[in-house]
Amino acid sequence: MPQANASAPADFIREIIDEHIRTNRFQSRVATRFPPEPNGYLHIGHAKSICLNFGIAAQYGGTCNLRMDDTDPTGESQEYVDSIIGDVKWLGFDWEDRLYYASDYYEKLYQFAVQLIKIGKAYVCSLSANEIREYRGTLTEPGKESPFRNRSVEESLDLFKRMRAGEFKEGTHVLRAKIDMASPNITMRDPIMYRIRYEPHYRTNNKWCIYPMYDFAHCLSDSLEKITHSICTLEFENNRPLYDWFLDALELESHPQQIEFARLNLSYTVLSKRRLIELVENGNVGGWDDPRMPTLAGLRRRGCTPEAIRSFCERIGVAKNDSTIDMALLEYCIREDMNERAPRVMAVLRPLRVVIDNYPEGQIEEFDCPYHPQNADMGSRKVPFSRILYIEQEDFMEKPPKKFYRLAPDKEVRLRYGYFVKCVNVVKDPNTGEVTEVHCTYDPETRSGFAPDGRKVDATIHWVSAEHSVPAEVRLYDRLFSVANPLEAGSDYVGHLNSKSLEILRTCRVEPSLKGVAPGSRFQFERVGYFCVDPVDSSDQDLVFNRTVTLRDTWAKISEKERR
Ligand code: ATP
Ligand code: MG
Repeated sequence: MPQANASAPADFIREIIDEHIRTNRFQSRVATRFPPEPNGYLHIGHAKSICLNFGIAAQYGGTCNLRMDDTDPTGESQEYVDSIIGDVKWLGFDWEDRLYYASDYYEKLYQFAVQLIKIGKAYVCSLSANEIREYRGTLTEPGKESPFRNRSVEESLDLFKRMRAGEFKEGTHVLRAKIDMASPNITMRDPIMYRIRYEPHYRTNNKWCIYPMYDFAHCLSDSLEKITHSICTLEFENNRPLYDWFLDALELESHPQQIEFARLNLSYTVLSKRRLIELVENGNVGGWDDPRMPTLAGLRRRGCTPEAIRSFCERIGVAKNDSTIDMALLEYCIREDMNERAPRVMAVLRPLRVVIDNYPEGQIEEFDCPYHPQNADMGSRKVPFSRILYIEQEDFMEKPPKKFYRLAPDKEVRLRYGYFVKCVNVVKDPNTGEVTEVHCTYDPETRSGFAPDGRKVDATIHWVSAEHSVPAEVRLYDRLFSVANPLEAGSDYVGHLNSKSLEILRTCRVEPSLKGVAPGSRFQFERVGYFCVDPVDSSDQDLVFNRTVTLRDTWAKISEKERR
């Protein structure tokens, strides 16, 4: 578990907790929870909430529970539960033995509801869904009381029992809290507590045909777990009076404080489970773990570390106003983390054959190349050099413009870790005119990377030995959407998907040290970017690398039009 961070920046939530400790509001206890609904995979927005809840618990020597908020049978599944458990663990947090399920509280919740009916604070309402909506009123008009509002306690109790027993059709009755139909807060206008649903639940199967609503189930789940601080996102601000109302009406001793914070919004992606499910189901992406997805599974497959995500969450902090964080900040955190940990290796993504005419045929040299320029502890490996190499196509131009510093006819460059080479000739495809092979000579005196006569070159380029290098597939991932706010334009966010978010290169060559490398390993391909071995599709026979992030923020320089 990440250590309690004494220097964690103070924010308004921690200030509230400090105040509660000062005033002994919860006997100085701090108990939080992370309560995902298992109806999708976790995304980076959830990571913000996870880091906040577990981070606060660690900082104050308290506890944080993991609770599946599974009170709506639609769309919930064990697959999602498993993914959530795996993702929170992967992020580095530990709930010890405190994994809970709201569905385990169904019987208790039912008893609480019965209690509210008995004290005249809840009633069975038999209006239709449409009528309930009409009676609710609007922001400017008060609601109207349901004709069933003053039903006797006995009748409501009887009907509620029979709702549970499956005697009624869906939509015929609901259980409502009796609060105030004229409340300026619409949430308080006799909100629904239970509805009839003949839908099996992934854990309770067909045991229940009535299901509690979020507002009723959530505060009671928190109270049952003796949570002290129930941290949630801003959209629940209007629900806080209701949260308190249920707990007060039931006179529960454990009465957590709900605190709302601004949810994370990130540019160039969407952080809504509903949208993410659509992308998966429509096949716009390869699945929940597609490396372009903002899900933790996607980020992990892309090569992101939990440390990078935690550092991002710490950096953005928590605030009370909604805002959108620039995707470039997440990429920066990933890059910074990769820069420290990723061994440097050479890989050529779009190979161009180079023959060094004056290098003896059959001769092989091995260059000792350090894995990291600043960290000698990472060691080094041997990289073979021979007469025939591959370099990047883009590192050669037959007719270079003025500011092209790399290889060109009669031009000399340095090969990374090795000799100076000079282009003396090219071979072209007779049909297309395309350069298929570049001929060079090398200067044996420049083995150290410097010329004894002091002459300089403009560029150093990376390379691999043709014979020794290993074939690989490289998947170049980019941002999922081509506009900063894909949801702004309404429902056609799918139309803003970045058509260049994935480019697959199948003829790459990587240096031989990468043979048999473990899935998930991370590297910097020198001059190219940060990559990780795809944990799903890569094997000893077929190496597959995912680009985690580019070396620099190139995106800012590309105009919006070009990105489509
Ligand atoms: P979505 O809007 O994606 O469907 P949700 O809020 O319905 O998300 P839950 O599973 O209920 O998803 O979320 C679990 C917890 O994570 C909640 O406490 C919620 O407030 C928090 N959370 C969800 N999305 C974000 C976000 N973008 N930023 C911060 N916290 C979030
Ligand atoms: Mg929710």
